[in-house]
Amino acid sequence: MVSTIESTVKNNLCINCGLCKTVCKFDAIKMTRNEYGEINPVIDYEKCKNCGQCLKACPMDKPKLEAIAQDLSKMENPHRHGLEDSKYYLAWDKNDEQRLKCCSGGAVTKIASYLFSQGKIDGMIHSERLWGHKGDLHYGARLSTTLEEIKEHVSSSYQPIDFSEVLSKLEKGKTYFMTGTPCVIRGIKNLLQSNKDFKDIKIITCALICSHNTNSKFVDFLTETNKLSDNEPWQVDMRAKDNTMSDANNFKNYVYTKDGKTLMNKNRFKSGWTKFWRFYYFAMNSCLYCPDFWGVDADISVKDAWGKWAGEDAKGQSILVIRNNEILNDFFNSGLEYEELDWETMKDHQKATPVYKQSNAIYKFTQKPYSKKNRKSRFFRYYINSKCSKFLYKHVGATITYYLMKIINTLTYVLEVI
Ligand SMILES: Cc1cc2nc3c(=O)[nH]c(=O)nc-3n(C[C@H](O)[C@H](O)[C@H](O)COP(=O)(O)OP(=O)(O)OC[C@H]3O[C@@H](n4cnc5c(N)ncnc54)[C@H](O)[C@@H]3O)c2cc1C
Ligand code: SF4
Ligand code: SF4
Ligand code: SF4
Repeated sequence: MVSTIESTVKNNLCINCGLCKTVCKFDAIKMTRNEYGEINPVIDYEKCKNCGQCLKACPMDKPKLEAIAQDLSKMENPHRHGLEDSKYYLAWDKNDEQRLKCCSGGAVTKIASYLFSQGKIDGMIHSERLWGHKGDLHYGARLSTTLEEIKEHVSSSYQPIDFSEVLSKLEKGKTYFMTGTPCVIRGIKNLLQSNKDFKDIKIITCALICSHNTNSKFVDFLTETNKLSDNEPWQVDMRAKDNTMSDANNFKNYVYTKDGKTLMNKNRFKSGWTKFWRFYYFAMNSCLYCPDFWGVDADISVKDAWGKWAGEDAKGQSILVIRNNEILNDFFNSGLEYEELDWETMKDHQKATPVYKQSNAIYKFTQKPYSKKNRKSRFFRYYINSKCSKFLYKHVGATITYYLMKIINTLTYVLEVI
């Protein structure tokens, strides 16, 4: 029997996290970019001993996902799973200059900074923007070991992150704070509990509550449809904020060069970002089947304070779901401004997304994508949009893809409502 992660790659469920490479003792896995620029593991069967460790570590193995979806289907309110036995807070960094650099309220950075300055963690495992051109990866993993680094590498990276190299640098006896999408946090929690190489390493986990993620071509498509120059290396902040914003919803897409030249700084409703994101252009196939919105396995989960709060504070606020009492104390002491939220406020917050991901999870595994259930839930539309955008952009370029996707999105909408 083959016990490798090849099945995850064949099922197109790989989220590019690199955990399989991290656990392979025989150096049989290489992370390689596929035809759509996604970073998939490739196994060297000359070296592979079929030990099964990579599959055990993989958070996106299809039977594991299906089992989660089955469990959810037996619950009364699957969209609320992940909120049980937790405390909920609205929080923001009082330092406006730092908060404006962050994605929402800067809560993640403030908590990590507090833990680091108290000597409670030795470093932070998170993400960073990369300099590059069209076709390159725009974000990567990093291990920050100074307060300055923790405070500098903020905001959201809308691209899967390969953590294999960073995880190989962790030292026994040390404690780290790690951010990641819920799938990666599920994988890390599993490693901490079951892999003996992680026995003497402590990781406090922070899930970035996640609707879905997109591959690196999403950024390329955005820059091309906005006709940006690709002559010099650039970086992108897809969640740029400033003092001119009317509300937190109106963040900008900021693309800049090394010498500080602005290539674009456009409201996300005007750049095309919102439409491309909302309709799952370039979405990872794995995200279409993902049954976790709330990051149920994490010590702490953090999201944007959408809804009424976006208009109340244009600089952005974070919503936190805290499941660990030790972290709760650190949160109180971190210096964040906060308000406690109650169950009534939280139970149906951003409801459409957890309903799509958690309540409808089982139908994605048990019914065809074009079944009535999957059409009505939007799965079929997202499935087609994700596949077509990747295929078209690769074969016919940005301009034709832009117009064809308008037609495809309309057709799939019609199929959704009939
Ligand atoms: C792909 C993705 C989809 C999301 N979807 C939603 C959504 O649908 N609804 C919602 O409310 N919120 C969503 N979020 C969460 C939201 O964007 C913020 O991450 C969250 O509110 C924390 O904001 P903050 O200001 O407290 O964090 P910050 O203080 O800005 O700190 C964020 C930290 O997370 C790290 N980080 C960023 N992206 C990644 C990544 N991909 N992997 C690992 N580390 C990372 C940064 O390096 C930084 O240290 C999503 C986030 C991501 C990455
Ligand atoms: S089965 Fe074992 S040896 Fe083979 S790739 Fe996976 S972890 Fe490495
Ligand atoms: S999801 Fe992660 S662990 Fe699974 S195959 Fe992909 S890179 Fe490896
Ligand atoms: S939607 Fe799920 S699989 Fe995709 S990045 Fe988020 S947690 Fe991971």
